[in-house]
Amino acid sequence: MGGRARAVKPPPAPPLLPADGEGSRLSQLLKTYLKPKDIAQVMAAYRFSDIAHTGQMRMSGDPYISHPVTVACILAELHLDALTIMAALLHDVMEDTEFGKQELTEKFGATVADLVDGVSKLDKIEFQTATHEQAENFRKMLLAMSQDVRVILVKLADRLHNMRTLDSMASEKRRRIARETMEIYAPIANRLGLNEIYQELEDLSFKHLYPLRFAVLTKSIKAVRGNRKEVVGKILEAIKQRLSDLRIEAEVTGREKHLFSIYRKMVEKTGTFSEIFDIYGFRIIVKDTATCYLTLGALHGLYKPIPGKFKDYIAIPKANGYQSLHTTLFGPFGTPIEVQIRSREMHNIAEAGVAAHWLYKNTDADLSALQKQTHQWLQRLLEIQSESTDSVEFLEHFKFDLFPDEVYVFTPKGQIMALPSGATAVDFAYAVHTDVGNCCVAVKINHELAPLSTELHNGDHVEIITATQAKPNPAWLNYVATGKARAHIRHFLKTMKSSESAMLGERMLNQALRVLQANPDDISEEQWKKLVRDYGVQDKQEILTDIGLGQRLNVMVARQLLTMAEPSGEKPVKQLGSITIRGSEGMAIQFAQCCRPIPGDPILGFINKGKGVVVHTRDCSAIRKFRKDPDKWLDVEWDPDPHRLFKANMRLAVANQPGVLAKIAAGIAGVGSNIDNVSMEEGDDSAYTHMNFTVQVKDREHLARLMRGLRKLPEVVRINRVKGAANS
Ligand code: MN
Repeated sequence: MGGRARAVKPPPAPPLLPADGEGSRLSQLLKTYLKPKDIAQVMAAYRFSDIAHTGQMRMSGDPYISHPVTVACILAELHLDALTIMAALLHDVMEDTEFGKQELTEKFGATVADLVDGVSKLDKIEFQTATHEQAENFRKMLLAMSQDVRVILVKLADRLHNMRTLDSMASEKRRRIARETMEIYAPIANRLGLNEIYQELEDLSFKHLYPLRFAVLTKSIKAVRGNRKEVVGKILEAIKQRLSDLRIEAEVTGREKHLFSIYRKMVEKTGTFSEIFDIYGFRIIVKDTATCYLTLGALHGLYKPIPGKFKDYIAIPKANGYQSLHTTLFGPFGTPIEVQIRSREMHNIAEAGVAAHWLYKNTDADLSALQKQTHQWLQRLLEIQSESTDSVEFLEHFKFDLFPDEVYVFTPKGQIMALPSGATAVDFAYAVHTDVGNCCVAVKINHELAPLSTELHNGDHVEIITATQAKPNPAWLNYVATGKARAHIRHFLKTMKSSESAMLGERMLNQALRVLQANPDDISEEQWKKLVRDYGVQDKQEILTDIGLGQRLNVMVARQLLTMAEPSGEKPVKQLGSITIRGSEGMAIQFAQCCRPIPGDPILGFINKGKGVVVHTRDCSAIRKFRKDPDKWLDVEWDPDPHRLFKANMRLAVANQPGVLAKIAAGIAGVGSNIDNVSMEEGDDSAYTHMNFTVQVKDREHLARLMRGLRKLPEVVRINRVKGAANS
């Protein structure tokens, strides 16, 4: 964080091992639990990092390497494995120096490189919004991106050291980092059961967010601590005496609440400082679970318990695996005494949380009770629904997808949205708003255009592009992952299908009526009622829909309607007038894939049972087979002002030169058209390439303008519109 300059060329000579300060503390710590060969590896990582960061300084003025060394120390105190310590030493190398993942993999293996890479990725996402729910999503996003729990452990240690040295930052930045720590990192540390890190992170955040309150509270605590010492000492003695009388071996300590938890209690319970601070806390650590209960009995014999305050977290552990007996007693001086009683193993978990696992890792091949317990709470904690029951493997690899069923992405405003994994841009659009879903036409993922079918990943920045005229595409149903999106698309298609078909059906019917020299407005309700009864359908709407869908012929319905009025008055059917096509009719009118008609093309419609009307160009070769079936023709013409873009195919022969596709794409975009699809044929003749484009244009004139523009490019040898089945 902050104050790094880019590395200058590293000097050739390796620096000496750090003999003082944090450096020597790290070697001391490592010696207590790592094997010499592991320590050698850690030292190699240290040397590499030191060289890589040469010339960089912390804001505090210290050489940069002091930061990763302290981070490594924090983790070594938790007795984390050599790979984690190495990753801690190297954690800023990828971000701040010229060395990349490749180099780290070669030198230190894939695991260390993955861990460093993971930490670097977390560094890149920034918490922007401040609502409670958003903070929870952000925490989940961080955990989900971590994959390996060690990544988040390194990140937490990194954050802890940065918080300890926050004073050298500018005040604006200090507040931002402190808030982020309070809302994101401290709760993660708490969730992972890293109690000490959690408390320190909270107190440091508190200090920088509310410097005044922090100062006042610190002063008050100092002031009363003197008086307390004596009282605490007396109670301590009494407890120790009672336990030793009963031959219970125990470690008894007075316990101070951390600063922020006092503050929080004052705010939440609206208590005064003395009400909250006047509670004395003690912790008793014994050898096993049975002794915990024995100790409890002994204490209740010493001081009267306050009813309703006893909690058995041994029988029912907290969600993060915490186990202890809690009880509150009436103390000798009228003040309440809070006591926690736990076994040594429980204590380790309470203090080191997820990291407690490593304390026992090397001692026994079998799973100790502690490991099983750790494993169990991790599973609960991470809500893993894995089929794998191999707990040994689980513990050894310690890799997991923390939230395998969800993916977290950013909206353009920096909000975080949780979606089921496998969700695509369309799911995202519907999650934002139904209207956004219904009108989405394109998506930018991390500021680059991508297909709507693109699957989203954790941390993606997603921006949906909408168009007012756009409509859901039935093809979306193939790749949406959320029920919400699916339901909305289905609903839209269904209602569109019937209402648009009914509208089209009405237009078709009216034309047929006019041809029969009847005025559509003259048709009475009575005539309709009769026809509805005759057909055995629900209502008029259903008949109109059927016409629009091509399931009834307009001319037949028109005739029958008229017959209902005057049974004798049948008139001969004449050529039907033409029907106007706007292009926005949806399912009722389809444009033939073979010829892809666009406004301006002479067209012909065919009534296709169940599909509605399919529009072809008049010169389309596919329509020849319909010629003998004139009943099914429908004269159609374009609406002079169509409301959408139409697809057209074109084929280009272009000189094989670099950048030619980009030039053509720019030419297409230059006249306001879009590329819907492009394919290339690699001919034997290497001088030319054939390219097939499907473009979106307003009409024939627009397409002509587009093609004229492309023809001017020197690389374009030939260009023509394709109306056969060549390209679809
Ligand atoms: Mn760092």
